[in-house]
Amino acid sequence: MKSSERIINEVAQGGRALDDAVAWFSSLEQDQQRAVLHEVVRFAMQANASVEDAREGLLRSGVKPTMTPAVLIIREPTVEQMGKVINLPPGEYVKSFRVLVSVFAVADARRRETDCRGSCGHAWHNLS
Ligand SMILES: [Zn+2]
Repeated sequence: MKSSERIINEVAQGGRALDDAVAWFSSLEQDQQRAVLHEVVRFAMQANASVEDAREGLLRSGVKPTMTPAVLIIREPTVEQMGKVINLPPGEYVKSFRVLVSVFAVADARRRETDCRGSCGHAWHNLS
């Protein structure tokens, strides 16, 4: 597993603070940041993130509801909106990361309590 995947999932599982992940994200080069945003969206799609997850995630993200990534993420369809968020200009990357990781965390928490309850084969749900 890549360190980026581990960090994203540690946040989702409560093992790492969002602010800590944001500090790590901020230290990356712009093209690496873009790649990480794509990874987060891939995880959020696998977790079937819904518009309800988006609304709840946004509340936890620390991003003001008037900011562009926030305005986009609470619209439907969520998959399409996540695609728009990762295509925002680099100046929005950190806010987009906060929003997307928070949305993924909500969706993934539900999945771990349902489909993945007990045990599952997902490496990212079995972090040691
Ligand atoms: Zn799983």
